[in-house]
Amino acid sequence: MNQKYFTDLLEKSLSGEFLNYDEIIHLYRFADFHELVFYADIIRKKNHPDNIVTYIIDRNINYTNICYSQCKFCNFCRNSNDHDIYILELKDYKSKIDELYLIGGRQILLQGGMNPKLDLEYYQNLFKQLKNYYPDLKLHALGPPEIVFLAKKSKKTIHQVLEILIEAGLDSLPGAGAEILSDRVRNIISPAKCSSAEWLEVMQIAHEIGLTTSATMMFGHIETIEERVEHLLKIRELQNKKPNNSKGFISFTPWPFAKSGTKLVKEYPYIPDVSAIEFLRIISLSRIVLLNIPNIQVSWLTMGAEVASLALHCGANDMSSIMIEENVVSKAGKNFKLDENGMKKAISEAGFIPKRRNQQYEILN
Ligand code: SF4
Repeated sequence: MNQKYFTDLLEKSLSGEFLNYDEIIHLYRFADFHELVFYADIIRKKNHPDNIVTYIIDRNINYTNICYSQCKFCNFCRNSNDHDIYILELKDYKSKIDELYLIGGRQILLQGGMNPKLDLEYYQNLFKQLKNYYPDLKLHALGPPEIVFLAKKSKKTIHQVLEILIEAGLDSLPGAGAEILSDRVRNIISPAKCSSAEWLEVMQIAHEIGLTTSATMMFGHIETIEERVEHLLKIRELQNKKPNNSKGFISFTPWPFAKSGTKLVKEYPYIPDVSAIEFLRIISLSRIVLLNIPNIQVSWLTMGAEVASLALHCGANDMSSIMIEENVVSKAGKNFKLDENGMKKAISEAGFIPKRRNQQYEILN
């Protein structure tokens, strides 16, 4: 493989043609970093010629920390007999959402443990009550593992569960729980969670009924490079099946595993940290491979604002959220903070125009 081989592959992607598995593996393993970044940046400009980088103001609310799944990478979850367990009450939601409204946010990212005591009816009532109190609030809530869990628990189909939750107020479905869409990996890091086929099935049904979703990848643990590439291809393939009138996966966010204190790192102590270069390589490849997903989001929360700003020159066009509350990644050693002014400054200093958006990626005034 010579330099021309890689340039031809990158030109192929730039012309709008999908790269195949072998081509992506070759790029991943051997392509020059600067050339990858160069092409990812041009493809981003082709899709987002206005030089705008978006962000959202929302609040992550974790409704319970009791979770039967006990994923090995999660320091947030608790067993039901632990001393520090909780399930939020309506008054807790109200004070958190009131705070969010004060700074202009209108969306919550509602996630938490798969608590066996919380059934479909619980979420149905919760969504209805929240929409009743805050009619313009957007609920970006749960994720495929929770939908599979609720379907099994309620003996309903995935389709029925999604329809019930949409009717109760669900606006969009986060891509949580994807980690790496390989059952070899999932059986080690999160054996109680839904399988990769189930994760994809939930997303396919969501797209068919017009629910906007997002896709994610948590990398940098026990997965191979081949499994990372397979993950990207599964996401791309599913997005290709979405109906024309559905947005499908509106964004893709790869983030590195935050390992501090996790069971996974105790079991696999030699997992290396993801370097900034490795992270930027993944961002670049995501843009080059996922030509059918409009937004590549960079998670500043796990890498910090400086690396996130660099990622804006490697294909990313969205800086994710001013997260005024975060309880999961911060429990695994990542404590980066960014308010709205810090976000705008980071985007402007990187040479872009910061614009606030909603979950549908519409620019807000
Ligand atoms: S990552 Fe989610 S599903 Fe897994 S243990 Fe933590 S809260 Fe439960």
